Amino acid sequence: MQKRIVIAGFGDTGLLVAIHLGPGFEIVGISPKPCLVSGQELGTRLTQPDSWKRDYLMAFGRYKKLDGARIVHGAITAVDTEQQCVEVLAADGTSSSEPYDALLISSGVTNGFWRTSEIEDIETIDRNIGDTAKRLEAAETIAIIGGGATGTSVSANLALRYPTKNVHYFYSQEQPLPGYHPTTRDSIERQLTASGVYLHPNHRADLSRKTSTDSLTADPTHWSTGQDPFQADLTLWAVGNVTPNSAFLPSEMLDERGFVRTDRHLRVEGFQNVFAVGDIAASDVNRSSARNWGFQLVAHNMRALLRSEERAMKVYEAPPYRWGSILGVQDDGLKVFQPNGRSFRFPRWSIRTILFPLFVRRMIYRGMRPSD
Ligand SMILES: Cc1cc2nc3c(=O)[nH]c(=O)nc-3n(C[C@H](O)[C@H](O)[C@H](O)COP(=O)(O)OP(=O)(O)OC[C@H]3O[C@@H](n4cnc5c(N)ncnc54)[C@H](O)[C@@H]3O)c2cc1C
Repeated sequence: MQKRIVIAGFGDTGLLVAIHLGPGFEIVGISPKPCLVSGQELGTRLTQPDSWKRDYLMAFGRYKKLDGARIVHGAITAVDTEQQCVEVLAADGTSSSEPYDALLISSGVTNGFWRTSEIEDIETIDRNIGDTAKRLEAAETIAIIGGGATGTSVSANLALRYPTKNVHYFYSQEQPLPGYHPTTRDSIERQLTASGVYLHPNHRADLSRKTSTDSLTADPTHWSTGQDPFQADLTLWAVGNVTPNSAFLPSEMLDERGFVRTDRHLRVEGFQNVFAVGDIAASDVNRSSARNWGFQLVAHNMRALLRSEERAMKVYEAPPYRWGSILGVQDDGLKVFQPNGRSFRFPRWSIRTILFPLFVRRMIYRGMRPSD
């Protein structure tokens, strides 16, 4: 009989693990969303929503290697490691129990309106993407708060897309992008200035004076670093206030912040047949296993475990600095920063001819069907 793998969270990494597990397993993916809603490239999602949807909002049926996998539209409410099963609340309100031989936790984090754990249908997802883009389009002065990749990407994309708007970017350090190589930080800082973004370093927002939990607000922002309050038509909060989607997990699996404790094989510490990958996994200081081919390594290690070849398991090694695309596809192509601070650019002409069709869709996702 085939071994059964349950994947808790079918976002960017859970879906990729399913694709890379290969044949010979019964795969059940649990997803609060009825399709892939990627967490990547918030800047282009907000400024070019139709183009973003073409690449990052994807029906599960388009992935050829998911044929045969069963995807349940719902959320996991509990995990019973003794009985080896998860409890699922489906989108239609029914509950069920899904047994597993091995469990993958890839439930990510909640991080503002763009990444949530709520059960949603496609109409709601689509409407929210469009409505948020329209609100930003209507605002004249926009403030973005938070120095990470999300805030940086949104600031640059808004300024490039809408050159007549006033885009003000606030962050608490001297430069944006902590965790990235110093050369990357210098380069992006220059690019933000060249794009027309007004940079406001050393501004730490006073969250205790924020009047709502929304990530888009219209009130003035106050600073705990002493500067005058700032009033924008719309303020986008990207302050890294991430909440791990781990409420359904036993507390023994979690660290003090609620992320899943993993060992060097990305296996959950103390649980022989449970693995974790992506933003939920406390794999390294940057929790970077969504990148660095963590999905391939976890797929390999789960295969090794289920084939009783544990000695073949590989070790996850994270680079000291974050890397990847920061601003997304621009008129001059896609710039990717490496862990050592160097960068390379896919020219614009190669994005639709080589990068997406060959590298992303054929090599990473192992084959996709065209959209309907
Ligand atoms: C191929 C690839 C390339 C990348 N490139 C870049 C890059 O260039 N630059 C960059 O900054 N980042 C990049 N990233 C990283 C990316 O921005 C995020 O780190 C990534 O989206 C996180 O993936 P995830 O699967 O951990 O979380 P998510 O994609 O958020 O998926 C988690 C899913 O679990 C669901 N979930 C939550 N609770 C439950 C529950 N109780 N039961 C079931 N499901 C639940 C969520 O709703 C969500 O659907 C890349 C990632 C990948 C995979």
